Amino acid sequence: MHLVMIGGSDAGISAALRARELDPGADLTVVVADAYPNFSICGMPYYLSGEVTHWRNLAHRTLADLEAAGMRLRLDTTARRIDVPGRKLLVTSAGGGEELLGYDKLAVGTGAVPVRPPISGLAGPAALGPGDGLHLLHSMDDTFAVIRTLEQAAPTSAVIVGAGYIGLEMADALTVRGLAVTQMEQLGELLPTVDPELGALIHAELAEHGVEVLTGTTVQAVTRAAPGQAGRLHVQATAADGSAVTRVADMVLVVVGVRPETTLAAEAGATLGVKGAIAVDRRMRTSLPDVFAAGDCVITHHRLLGETYLPLGTTAHKQGRVAGENALGGNREFAGSLGTQVVKIFDQAAARTGLRDHEAAPAGFAPVSVASEADDHKAYYPGSHRIHMRVTGDRTTGRLLGLQLFGHRHAEIAKRIDIAATAIFHTMTVDAISDLDLSYTPPLGSPWEAVQMGAQAWVRETQRR
Ligand SMILES: Cc1cc2nc3c(=O)[nH]c(=O)nc-3n(C[C@H](O)[C@H](O)[C@H](O)COP(=O)(O)OP(=O)(O)OC[C@H]3O[C@@H](n4cnc5c(N)ncnc54)[C@H](O)[C@@H]3O)c2cc1C
Repeated sequence: MHLVMIGGSDAGISAALRARELDPGADLTVVVADAYPNFSICGMPYYLSGEVTHWRNLAHRTLADLEAAGMRLRLDTTARRIDVPGRKLLVTSAGGGEELLGYDKLAVGTGAVPVRPPISGLAGPAALGPGDGLHLLHSMDDTFAVIRTLEQAAPTSAVIVGAGYIGLEMADALTVRGLAVTQMEQLGELLPTVDPELGALIHAELAEHGVEVLTGTTVQAVTRAAPGQAGRLHVQATAADGSAVTRVADMVLVVVGVRPETTLAAEAGATLGVKGAIAVDRRMRTSLPDVFAAGDCVITHHRLLGETYLPLGTTAHKQGRVAGENALGGNREFAGSLGTQVVKIFDQAAARTGLRDHEAAPAGFAPVSVASEADDHKAYYPGSHRIHMRVTGDRTTGRLLGLQLFGHRHAEIAKRIDIAATAIFHTMTVDAISDLDLSYTPPLGSPWEAVQMGAQAWVRETQRR
């Protein structure tokens, strides 16, 4: 059995590791377009901030670890064409040489590429690029390009276009690095994946750390600044009221989301689904025989919404594992995502799982969201922090649909959101959260855990309404 993985990030490597676990004799080849297999691209902001001191430290596993696990890695090698009936993969190596790799099963993990919004200066023959200080951020090569700008051009100011979780992490990172940061977001509040009430708290945290936050601001163009101007780049934008906004900065980072990289699979005839991602069933099978796919290149099965597109590293790991198992003849299903995520912004953290009102209502639920606050541990013990919560439940069934949290980075926001993720996974009601036997000691918690207090606030409020 020769299993070939295309892509050496979360999905591809997870598939290979699972296959190895199940069959020590399987022949495993991983084809990777760049030289950085199994790097934690989620960690790039912390290398760029200087908190992670060497890029090599971002490796989940080293090349030697992967080879010792029994997989053959073809680095700097790009998959060009899948011959589905012949079960062959055409690849080109760094030197340009072509080769046909035979396979019994194939797992596509080509991931995603950054979205390039329609900003003048970002595309076309005269497009600006990393050499000018204009950057996208998705791969290790993108990271090295940002480092070159930071080290060689010694920028003192940056504009970040986009305030999703990567934009926020980079605002934090570049501020830590000493740059004056302006964050521009076309929507009305930061981190549009949480309710604006929590977005406003993130806004305040950025402002407190000196970040200039411009919401409702759509960037139109990035050009080279005129000679004599302070910065290298000139950013032109429009505010919500139509007025012009301009800033001059030494570097500009455009981080407005990703789209699935599906060229290879689509050209081979694979069916595409939501947002143009590769359609897969829960066993991670594509429409092509013997071809599996996983990670940011595929649609996501969501436990409450059905098919959606929700690219996340945690999901890519799980889907890759399922693809690797099933490629060896297994019958495992991807259990589904809840979009559980968390982000650190300076001293605070924001997290969400499940659905918000506007997502739940079209899916047939009768959502009600209730805001509340609780301490992360007993306030009499030093160092307690307030946690802001938004619990979303279904008014008709009482089922827990979602939770959003905001609080200090040491208030266990990530693990608290996981309580709700686990509860939603098991279709618990909001009321039943109070029955969970959760841990308590005053320096670390309360007799009623904060998430339980949020659940009780929801029950009280919905009974009153
Ligand atoms: C800055 C940043 C921070 C993030 N933080 C988080 C986080 O905190 N939590 C979280 O859950 N997620 C996070 N993510 C998202 C997470 O990194 C992705 O969801 C995850 O990496 C997806 O893994 P993947 O294997 O599907 O694809 P990718 O990581 O996109 O990898 C695709 C792989 O395919 C290779 N490839 C593509 N085309 C070809 C080809 N034709 N031939 C050969 N190889 C090819 C690429 O070289 C690469 O190895 C973050 C992403 C970024 C950019």
